[in-house]
Amino acid sequence: MGGSGSTRWQNYERRLAVEDCLCVSTTDLFRYPLPTDRLGQIDWTIRRTGGILAFMFYQLDATDLNDQRIWTSVNRNFDGVMKSEEQWVGLEWTECNRHGGVRWWFTCPSPYGSCGNRRCRKLYLTPNGLLLSCRECHNLTYASCQDSHRNDWLQRMIKNRSVGQHSTIVE
Ligand SMILES: [Zn+2]
Repeated sequence: MGGSGSTRWQNYERRLAVEDCLCVSTTDLFRYPLPTDRLGQIDWTIRRTGGILAFMFYQLDATDLNDQRIWTSVNRNFDGVMKSEEQWVGLEWTECNRHGGVRWWFTCPSPYGSCGNRRCRKLYLTPNGLLLSCRECHNLTYASCQDSHRNDWLQRMIKNRSVGQHSTIVE
């Protein structure tokens, strides 16, 4: 499956956890009602220094109500060299009774296709990765209880910020 789910990480081989990864959630991007031609950027920033680990431009293409999708461009710094990758990500929505609005979903854009483009709320970037995929396609686990703090440093370090025309999300 492309071998993206494990990597040599701190000199030993193990399965990656979601906590090891950068994450983008539909709730970071979309609010109801959905504005068309929405442009935005998400920065993954190191809190302490303000340095940018990675960022993602996105633009919503909602012109066809039956085929809504976003264009994404992930840009990441690898030892001073910026690399980028573009992907189209499909969108679906379901009615959300609690708020009387809609709930947005990504359809997984994995090039490996192992999940069958399943509907998901979050897409991940692995530590060395530029391609967004769901948890299943990246073969990610959730950190076990004993292990659950192993990458707190990463999650503490990162501030997920969305700078769109309509919202600023701080997580
Ligand atoms: Zn997938």
